[in-house]
Amino acid sequence: MTNDVKINVKHPLPQVVLTCDNPRMAQSIPAKSPGAEIIVRHPATREEIGRAPLTMPEEVARAVRRAREAGAAWAMKSFRERGRVIMAAREIILKELDDIALLISRETGKPSIEAIAMEMAPALDLMQYFARKTASLLRPRRVSVGLYWTMGRSSYEIYKPLGVVGVISPWNFPWATPLDEVVMALMAGNAVVLKPSELTPLTALKINDVLSRAGLPKNVLQVVTGDGSTGAALVASGVDKIMFTGSVPTGRRVAEAAAKYLIPVVLELGGKDPMIVLDDANITNAARAAVWGAFANCGQSCSSLERCYVHESIAAEFTAEVVKETKRLRQPTAGAATTDLGPMSSERQLSIVERHVNQAINNGAVALTGGERLRDVAGPFYPPTVLTNLTHEMDVMREETFGPVLPIMTFSTDDEAIRLANDSDFGLTASVWTNNIGRGQQLARQIDAGTVMINEVLYTHAIAQTPWGGTKQSGLGRTHGESGLLELVRAQHVHVNRLPFLPDLWWFNYDEGAGELFRGFARKFASGSLVQASLLLPRMIRRWRQPRN
Ligand code: NAD
Repeated sequence: MTNDVKINVKHPLPQVVLTCDNPRMAQSIPAKSPGAEIIVRHPATREEIGRAPLTMPEEVARAVRRAREAGAAWAMKSFRERGRVIMAAREIILKELDDIALLISRETGKPSIEAIAMEMAPALDLMQYFARKTASLLRPRRVSVGLYWTMGRSSYEIYKPLGVVGVISPWNFPWATPLDEVVMALMAGNAVVLKPSELTPLTALKINDVLSRAGLPKNVLQVVTGDGSTGAALVASGVDKIMFTGSVPTGRRVAEAAAKYLIPVVLELGGKDPMIVLDDANITNAARAAVWGAFANCGQSCSSLERCYVHESIAAEFTAEVVKETKRLRQPTAGAATTDLGPMSSERQLSIVERHVNQAINNGAVALTGGERLRDVAGPFYPPTVLTNLTHEMDVMREETFGPVLPIMTFSTDDEAIRLANDSDFGLTASVWTNNIGRGQQLARQIDAGTVMINEVLYTHAIAQTPWGGTKQSGLGRTHGESGLLELVRAQHVHVNRLPFLPDLWWFNYDEGAGELFRGFARKFASGSLVQASLLLPRMIRRWRQPRN
């Protein structure tokens, strides 16, 4: 197995190699010492791309303290002032677009133009949206108080920054995933400590570099690097919330640790996203969508298409189109600026793909294209693979594969399609393909997933305005959109009594007259009817006037 990242501990210890492909080994590193570095290598060529300083676990708590101090002044700034910093960062990113895309490409192996399409353009859009709109999205909101308004009462909610938000992110979208959350958290008035994947620290350091050149005050954003032990130190370091994106097992560990400190978490976890192609779908477009949905980012997206269910009457034609489209894809093993698929990001991820595909083939599945890693080339290259003749018990239909594999099964009725789509531990996104939008919407309501797209796949993470998040094992809470922004603030309810000279009728003393009035409240005021409640007025006036002894 090839290591993707080395953590290089300088003097006085000999070099310690951290096998990032094996998180358990990573956490058993004997001694990390000041001066240690992460050596980042290209996933295919093994060429050294750069080095990142390794953050010691004890340094993480200090970073959080610094963030809290610096965050106090940042929280006092207006939305307009914060927005100016974000917009200035946008300008820098636009000027350096190709260089940043190249860095992302070298750290992950993905084609740099795909980094622009799937990571940079969407994040730039999100930046301008939240820079301009956060003020109105977080304006104080009036809250209805029902019939209590008749007693001069009103309520509203205001939204305050949480303080310090910890962001823990994975390697598959090392630019967009953390940057989106960082921008939203900053716009909401928080300071942020970001712990990127140990496989992609350089992209995260670039995010920090861009924001600091854009005028973000020192320490409002800090990046702490390292493996799971650095992430665990962040959860335990006194942050006010953790925004975690990663795998289900790690998400569970993060939630357990956060429970100990009673801090809230948003968990964006894995997926096994289904696509249902109905008998009236546009076959050509559905097939092209399936190929992009399954193979973009080499299949390493949480919302990659991982299961395809096609109506039996069009299955032959659809599958032939999928295979034709797949065979058009280019995957040069030497790397090229414009290509369709690169290598996978790590040997560990490739070995999961191999396990799923081999198990399926050994149990009767057929690979219509691909089906075996590319041999005789250096690096974790796996070709886009289309599988048929599957059963729903196979791992490739149940576990997250997170690689370039498109398994296709057939169904005969809409009910069967829904049953298959819902027969999963995951619920991130799903899609339904049909020319009958009403029928598609009807099916969408029956699917257990955070997002269901009709005639679309994969891409809605790119829309800043729409909520992102899953159900079941795919996670808790939301990022993006108004729901995602509300995860990054503390809502405070303010209640006002505009008649401060009148005592409340439910205060002491509890005499017979009070009992009669309270029964009236239960029967009439609590009916929600103004007419009914007004019948209580004479008794209310009597109680107000009642002399106190
Ligand atoms: P991972 O769970 O191995 O690691 C994610 C992050 O958690 C890394 O930064 C890692 O260092 C850190 N970490 C590891 N152990 C930790 C601990 N005990 N405490 C705190 N942090 C810890 O995931 P990965 O392999 O980097 O990413 C792939 C997974 O991410 C896939 O399952 C994919 O579906 C998921 N993902 C989900 C979304 C989404 O929006 N739902 C988006 C992208 C990726």
